[in-house]
Amino acid sequence: MNERDTLKINSKGHLEIGGKDTVDLAEEFGTPLYVFDEKHIRDMMSVYRNTINDEYDGNGLVLYASKAFSCKAIYRIAAQENIGVDVVSGGELYTALSVGFPADKIYFHGNNKLFKELAYAVKNKVGTIVVDSFKEADELNELAKNHHLHQNVIIRINPGVEAHTHAYIQTARSDSKFGFSVSDGSAEKIVKYVLDKKNLALKGFHCHIGSQIFENESFILAVQKMVAFIAEIKQKYGFEADVLNLGGGFGIWYNSEDPKQKTTDYQITVHGIIAALKETTARYKLKQPYLLIEPGRSIVGEAGITLYTVGSVKEIAGIKKYVAIDGGMFENPRYALYQSKYEVLLANRANEKCTERVTVAGKCCESGDIIAVDVAVPNPQSGDIMAVFSTGAYNYSMASNYNRNFVPPAILVKDGKAEYIIKPQTYEDIVRNDTVPDYLK
Ligand SMILES: *Cc1c(COP(=O)(O)O)cnc(C)c1O
Repeated sequence: MNERDTLKINSKGHLEIGGKDTVDLAEEFGTPLYVFDEKHIRDMMSVYRNTINDEYDGNGLVLYASKAFSCKAIYRIAAQENIGVDVVSGGELYTALSVGFPADKIYFHGNNKLFKELAYAVKNKVGTIVVDSFKEADELNELAKNHHLHQNVIIRINPGVEAHTHAYIQTARSDSKFGFSVSDGSAEKIVKYVLDKKNLALKGFHCHIGSQIFENESFILAVQKMVAFIAEIKQKYGFEADVLNLGGGFGIWYNSEDPKQKTTDYQITVHGIIAALKETTARYKLKQPYLLIEPGRSIVGEAGITLYTVGSVKEIAGIKKYVAIDGGMFENPRYALYQSKYEVLLANRANEKCTERVTVAGKCCESGDIIAVDVAVPNPQSGDIMAVFSTGAYNYSMASNYNRNFVPPAILVKDGKAEYIIKPQTYEDIVRNDTVPDYLK
């Protein structure tokens, strides 16, 4: 379990989060249920923001990578915490704008943004668009021209840093669908191309070297390579970048194989990035660029837990025990996608000694519908409340109605209060967009 002040075991031996007993939450809101600890989210946003303010004279901005968890409330929290956001689709952009998130603090990413998404972004004065293809540069220039404006853009660069992480979530190797590679010269080509576009205002460069990264050296290497690239472009084309966006990817605790990071550890990571940035820009005699970082997972991941009710418990003699819960891959597909490992706790018997190891299975009609493998629990019983930790990122945002299950609701807890931020679905929601053509009636 994570060592956080708002996540603890109370006097009843129940798991508590944000001052709420999780057994009471399961009773009041039903299961499965996503629970988000507001304090943790704000603490994480603050540590990134404050480190840039304190150590880099505020010459930068934290962008919450909202693909990790996108809903109206999270954009409100980000706005209140005075940070920016990045979005990767028209849907995320719409959600942010719908709650009045300041458009100038929105950065729009994606390797294949649709023309209509770009048009929507330009029309709504999205601050910066991260260019990821020649086609996109053409389309954006056209759109900006039609709106009589100069669209701020940065270019996604692939600096060729190999972060030590899971291959599926690795994005900055030379073989990536994202960005333009420095090593094969395509990065230089797109820079020249964008500089020649009359209605595009090139501000700088972006990279994102992967996810779930704990090795600070990876980020420092990315800084060094990106600054070297800035210097090369300045020398060749006389263009000096004002903005350097280093992406996200800061690792979080999921299970015993991961280090448990405190908020101060994230401060140390950003401190290292800033120190490397100051050192490298001085060496190349460049100005210190406006620094952007884009943490997603590390802001919401450990802030979230999911509560389930145990249903059937099935022992395959001599092989394993399956504990089935009322959720599954429709609300947490990460084991099915990446074999991600999660830790669990029986929230109603949190102090009991773990006596066996089990596999936690979902309710979908797929053998691969697993939530956790080989986790220790005290003899689980039907009706127990199970908590799965670190589910705040890439769970709800990846959820679906597979098997026509409901996407679970989400609540925000803080100081003993709980409020919906995503309401429960109904059967009516499930069929909302279904239609039967006349000839089938
Ligand atoms: C996914 C992504 C992030 C966030 O990554 P985390 O691992 O959630 O911190 C940041 N920037 C870009 C461009 C991304 O694609």
